[in-house]
Amino acid sequence: MMPALEYRQSTPRFLAARGASSTRLGGRMSGVLASNVAPLRLVHRAEPSLPAGEWVRLRPLLSGICGSDVSLLTGRSSPYFGAVVSMPFVPGHEVVAETLDDLPGLAKGSRVVVDPVLSCAVRGGTPCRWCVAGQHSRCDRVTAGRVSAGLQTGYCTDTGGGWGRQMVAHAAQLHQVPDTLDDRRAVLVEPLACAVHSVRRANVPAGAAVLIVGAGTVGLLTLLALRALTKAGPIYVVAKHAHQHARARELGATEVFQPSRAARAVRRACGGTLEQPMIGGDFLLGGADVAFECTGAGSGLDMALRLVRAGGTVLLSGMPSGGVDLTPVWFRELNLVGSYASSGSATSPAAGPETDEQGTAEPAGGAFAEAMALAAEAPLDGYVDAIYPLSRWREALGHAAKAGQLGAVKVAFDPSRN
Ligand SMILES: [Zn+2]
Ligand SMILES: [Zn+2]
Repeated sequence: MMPALEYRQSTPRFLAARGASSTRLGGRMSGVLASNVAPLRLVHRAEPSLPAGEWVRLRPLLSGICGSDVSLLTGRSSPYFGAVVSMPFVPGHEVVAETLDDLPGLAKGSRVVVDPVLSCAVRGGTPCRWCVAGQHSRCDRVTAGRVSAGLQTGYCTDTGGGWGRQMVAHAAQLHQVPDTLDDRRAVLVEPLACAVHSVRRANVPAGAAVLIVGAGTVGLLTLLALRALTKAGPIYVVAKHAHQHARARELGATEVFQPSRAARAVRRACGGTLEQPMIGGDFLLGGADVAFECTGAGSGLDMALRLVRAGGTVLLSGMPSGGVDLTPVWFRELNLVGSYASSGSATSPAAGPETDEQGTAEPAGGAFAEAMALAAEAPLDGYVDAIYPLSRWREALGHAAKAGQLGAVKVAFDPSRN
């Protein structure tokens, strides 16, 4: 038996989390954590067993708390996901771990990061069209095969997750971490791979004016990937907190704006006219060429849609939550592009150059290989400095929900600590 945080959803719990009185995320999280219907609890459960050959047991060293985890726990994520998870599950999909079994080419005791997508390579059986094409984040078989339903590790009852002392993963999910990359940087590789993927999906033209809405982990890592992998022109970042402004500048932001000033600032920087409807936010006729929504909040997407020029692109990087007025998509003929997880696996037989209708070619090795290289070079010191044992999960999640306010970027668990 091992300690783990277990998520067990029920409709009353879901509605209670959704209905928690505060509309502010931090406030809503404290309501959820204090309530006796919190969907998460610390349990002792059996270590997950190996589903087949090519699977290994892992001991998580650090496991990040993702914005999508916070949304899930506060009832902000869509009931849509209910069909592609299996309960109860142990969350945690941003994992750096040590392997506890040997694999060909990967000795027991190796340090790895986990690509959490539970696609055909992991599930066995005849691969779907997307996995054949090396785009496993689009896998159609996330409810099929040898493990229970689950879009990712951290949403599947059979695999365990990073918020437990032990989990299992398939060889195709593992990327070895070089000795030079410490755990605090390695735990950023998964979110960084997602940022790399979103930047590929956006297909940013050389010289384009880019707007990033939000400067939490997703926004900052998107900025890093944009500067490293594209020839984007000016990059403007909308950020609430002073430490986010400083970090964004350090990563190459051209200018950083407060949300309340964003519409005027983007108009000044990119041109256009500022329009002020009687109800709702200001918008531009004109604006940035491409915007990345990196908050996961309806207000962030609303702002991105209002500040992009006609014919421009809005990238959904954060997991969307809440309804949004789509009028600008229609009126301004915007391209709304989703970006989920990452693509191109170093160890999957299907790995290889990827092209699709929206993105540019991804090199062999995929987004994880690129993310691993970026994590080693980029100025990411101090991004992961709030680390909690599982037993302090209420505090950890409260910290994650208010990370920006509290000066943190990524809050993580060290499941080996008591
Ligand atoms: Zn995530
Ligand atoms: Zn597939």
